[in-house]
Amino acid sequence: MLITKKHIYTILVILCIILINVFSLVLVLTTEFGDSKTIVIDAGHGGIDGGVSIGTVVEADLTLQLAFELKEILEKADYKVVLTRDSKLALGDGKKADMQARREVIDSCNPVMMISLHINKFADSNVRGVRVFYDDTNKHKDSAERMQSVLNSRVNKVFVGRSDFKSSGGDFYITKCSEVTSLIIECGFISSPQDRELLLNPQYRIKLCGAIADGVVSMTSNSL
Ligand SMILES: [Zn+2]
Repeated sequence: MLITKKHIYTILVILCIILINVFSLVLVLTTEFGDSKTIVIDAGHGGIDGGVSIGTVVEADLTLQLAFELKEILEKADYKVVLTRDSKLALGDGKKADMQARREVIDSCNPVMMISLHINKFADSNVRGVRVFYDDTNKHKDSAERMQSVLNSRVNKVFVGRSDFKSSGGDFYITKCSEVTSLIIECGFISSPQDRELLLNPQYRIKLCGAIADGVVSMTSNSL
């Protein structure tokens, strides 16, 4: 067959159309995939704000430790994890500046989910368990209840002997940062000797972080 100028022109046009389509597809996939696989983990407190404490056991230290351990597990599951703080220091001078800086981290990386880790304290040392909180003006009650249910079956039932905890709504600055699904997980009561002992046990923390990660995966994989 004789290849004419017209043939060459047609082939070039077809090649261009194919290249443009492939490029667009790659762009769409990388953009959507990147966003849906980014999780922000917020280690509660830090700097001069240690949060709650009993003796030498301090909330800010435990939340940072848990944040590192949860990050490692989620990264193994191919998530991109951004920590609001990765040292003992706060993100700003004073509580307001610190909280605003955390909000900026969350807004800037457009995550699919934000998990803020905290430790609880109560006057009655018998009160125990891992509890999930959400912003009750927001739409994340279902996600909070889903995470609570994973934590009930995987952690509270095994280590506390109860699996009937419900998630709770409230007014929290950190959960109002963006439209992203934002949950606060109170990882146990520092005022309970049993919970405190568990939180200081690396093997327990791995189980707790594994359960939180499974909750994250179960919720975010639906949106992929
Ligand atoms: Zn706290």
